[in-house]
Amino acid sequence: MNSYFSRLLSINNFGSSCFVNLLLLILLLGLVGLSWIVNGLLVILGVITIIPVIILLIFKWWLKHNLVYGNCPVCNSKLTGFKNMKSYCLNCGETLESQNDEFHRNIPVSTVDVEIVDSYDNQTDESS
Ligand SMILES: [Zn+2]
Repeated sequence: MNSYFSRLLSINNFGSSCFVNLLLLILLLGLVGLSWIVNGLLVILGVITIIPVIILLIFKWWLKHNLVYGNCPVCNSKLTGFKNMKSYCLNCGETLESQNDEFHRNIPVSTVDVEIVDSYDNQTDESS
């Protein structure tokens, strides 16, 4: 009695939606055949696994051709930046622009670069 009740319960758990799904699956198998469905699933699985690898390879290639490694022209610290883009030196904060795989200072044309010489030290050296 108890086993009959549990079997009845399991039949009731089967449900109508599961039965409809099973019927649709059988109908689909009858229409297109099992090999087409298996092949389709394999193709979808292959595409899902291959596309991220292809995107990763393309991104790696793009990075290789667009990254510039060099030194800061002001403080000579190592830098990494993108080609033809403005960047900042993380060490000294200088605005830099990468051209021809090198970093250049981004200064206006009318700016004159001046080196500061401390005159007080020169006077004390001459007097002594
Ligand atoms: Zn710097």
